[in-house]
Amino acid sequence: MTKLRLADFRRVAFFTGAGLSSESGIPTYRGSGGVWREYDYQEYACQEAFERDAEKVWDFHDKRREAVAAAEPNEGHRIIARHQAAHPETAIITQNIDGLHQRAGAERVMELHGSLWRVRCERERTVRDDLSVPMAQRKCSCGAYLRPDITWFGDRLDEAVIGRAVERLASCDLIVSIGTSGVVFPAADLPRIAVSSGAVSVEINLEDTPVSHLYQHHLRAPASEALAVLAGA
Ligand code: NAD
Repeated sequence: MTKLRLADFRRVAFFTGAGLSSESGIPTYRGSGGVWREYDYQEYACQEAFERDAEKVWDFHDKRREAVAAAEPNEGHRIIARHQAAHPETAIITQNIDGLHQRAGAERVMELHGSLWRVRCERERTVRDDLSVPMAQRKCSCGAYLRPDITWFGDRLDEAVIGRAVERLASCDLIVSIGTSGVVFPAADLPRIAVSSGAVSVEINLEDTPVSHLYQHHLRAPASEALAVLAGA
């Protein structure tokens, strides 16, 4: 398939999307079975919806938490975690909110779109982990509704996370994009930084994407299989 091997590079950056978790049974964004084919995001995943009806938005997110809690990390997540354990300078930058990288053992995961497993109080400006399913407390002790600490439609990304990701992408020598359609901005623009800094670039996806032209190498296979090839397994 390819002669590229992760072991031939010193600083690998993995840039992951929903396709990596699809082998764990979590639906992707746009593909068949995708969440936004079934649900209107304006009703469930934007600040306006939350202000209109927080309980309805929480019911929706509780279902997402339940589905993800029942899923397990797959071999793709595990290969990435093992590579990072052996090479601590490895960067893991994800658009996923499911926490499966961490459950596979990965550390210092840069979550561009936040996490289903954190909640924040906008009034107190606090953020905390919450792994309960369903959410034990939808309200903060101050009385305000907690909201999931994820990027909804129309939200801005966390500048600090973006800053760290940019730094790591600018200094990696291999960028491996995995299971992302490359159409959710500004995240989709980030791999360009690695490419324009001279990193070797690989796209793992089942199909061509609008950003395939950015990459020198294309592995058209399920993420776990393509990663096993790159890992030399
Ligand atoms: P996307 O759904 O837009 O695209 C998924 C991509 O993965 C597609 O290009 C598809 O061809 C590819 N793919 C599907 N199965 C694959 C497999 N087994 N191996 C390799 N590739 C595969 O996903 P996106 O680009 O990540 O954008 C989705 C947005 O929605 C993200 O911002 C994310 O926050 C959110 N989201 C997250 C999750 C999650 O946390 N697991 C799931 C759905 C959506």
